[in-house]
Amino acid sequence: TLPIDSRVSTRTADFIGQKHRMFIDGRFVVAASGKTFPVYNPATGEVIAHVPEAEAEDVDRAVRAARAAFDNGPWARMKPSERGRLLWKLGDLLEKHLEEFAELESIDNGKPVVVARAADVPLAVDMFRYMGGWATKISGSTLSLSSPGEFHSYTLREPVGVAAQIIPWNFPLLMAAWKLGPALAAGCTVVLKLAEQTPLSGLRLAELIHEAGFPEGVVNVLTGFGEGAGAPLAAHEMVDKVAFTGSTEVGRLIVRAAAGNLKKVTLELGGKSPAIVFPDADMDRAIAGTASAIFFNQGQCCCAGSRLMVHEKVFDQVVEGVSRIAAKIKIGPGMDPSTELGPLVSDEQFQRVTGYIRAGVDEGAEVLTGGHSTGDRGYFVQPTVLAKTMPEMKVVKEEIFGPVVCAQRFSDDDLDRIAAEANDTVFGLAASIWTDDLSTAHKLARRIRAGTVWINCHNIFDATLPFGGYKESGWGREKGEEAVQNYLETKAVAVAL
Ligand code: ADP
Repeated sequence: TLPIDSRVSTRTADFIGQKHRMFIDGRFVVAASGKTFPVYNPATGEVIAHVPEAEAEDVDRAVRAARAAFDNGPWARMKPSERGRLLWKLGDLLEKHLEEFAELESIDNGKPVVVARAADVPLAVDMFRYMGGWATKISGSTLSLSSPGEFHSYTLREPVGVAAQIIPWNFPLLMAAWKLGPALAAGCTVVLKLAEQTPLSGLRLAELIHEAGFPEGVVNVLTGFGEGAGAPLAAHEMVDKVAFTGSTEVGRLIVRAAAGNLKKVTLELGGKSPAIVFPDADMDRAIAGTASAIFFNQGQCCCAGSRLMVHEKVFDQVVEGVSRIAAKIKIGPGMDPSTELGPLVSDEQFQRVTGYIRAGVDEGAEVLTGGHSTGDRGYFVQPTVLAKTMPEMKVVKEEIFGPVVCAQRFSDDDLDRIAAEANDTVFGLAASIWTDDLSTAHKLARRIRAGTVWINCHNIFDATLPFGGYKESGWGREKGEEAVQNYLETKAVAVAL
């Protein structure tokens, strides 16, 4: 048996220790090749499990199962209320096993178990319930043609078909819920590829999907690598739509792979989101809020507030405040209940983030706090505040995806110029504005070119809020009604009277 954190419950440890199988056509199976790959505990760097390594043949089996379930199976013809009931049931089952999922997320991704318990798992439960409600509320409209009385015409909203869904490792369970919920509500069938770094909660979710009673082939869950499994999935000719969350670089590959049969594509990609603090903001709230905006989830959020833009009048106060919080954050293994910041997800991510910090320092940034890795094993990086950063620096331009914030000062009171600075990025995922002036808040919200603007808050992920990016942050929206629309086609019907 492999080493597992002793704080993990027996039940969770039993699941981690079992022989893992993927979920294809309602059955739990090993890879066609028999190959597996290791799963690591990022707090220790130790291997804790092995999971099947899906390749093109497994992808093909899963896609054919999803295709058959869509074309011939009961799913698309099932009563919407029945689809809704199954989604609701999945939410209930997940809630019943909340503690186990919180532990799986913590062990596999590294995040504090306290956070997974309070955020990741309940948000996923909410998502399934919210989307269960949509299943019965999908309908077209009647239209008035230009020659009234001659035609009766209306639209039908139909599921797009087989959806390929490829997700990242930063919120393994929640990203699965964001993807599965709307697709299933709409009546699509799904092949979901989990991130290779964090497959455990998705495999456990597959068991609950089975237990809930989803018909065979409606949901298929694969574990495998990007090139080996993700690429053939995105390219498969029997897939109608691909939904991807991950890096902008891979997003471009997905678009190319999808071009063969012109799959519908939605993408949720990188970000370099500003948190903009005005002098009239509630300072305690702004300082705590902008610190959490970047350090939440070890900074591994696509919408992390990684550019801290502060008005010069309060620059020192805010940046010192954020640095003080950063220096006090308790770093440790996610399974320690007192941990506030866990390890980064993988050695690769650890190298990447520490590399960025070095690059920032080389380019002349000043480290106000943090700046180093920590711990004698595992992938721990200190929360880091960089000042004296210039717009052309790598650390300011590129997504770091770690607990590293670049503080920038603005002296302007002109909202157009502040917005121009905030928008000076190829990304457009999110922004937060910290002010007590309603007029400033709403005026600036309109000027920010990003899919989400939070005012006096950051990282609010309610199931109802559409989430996605402008510019190179992606195509389409997840969550909310718009997510359901992504999985529907519109059919116009005209009847000559
Ligand atoms: P990150 O850089 O955050 O790890 P990636 O964009 O590399 O994110 O990965 C996100 C997801 O995309 C993962 O499930 C990964 O396996 C998958 N992936 C990576 N490369 C490809 C590819 N060429 N085609 C399809 N999926 C891929």
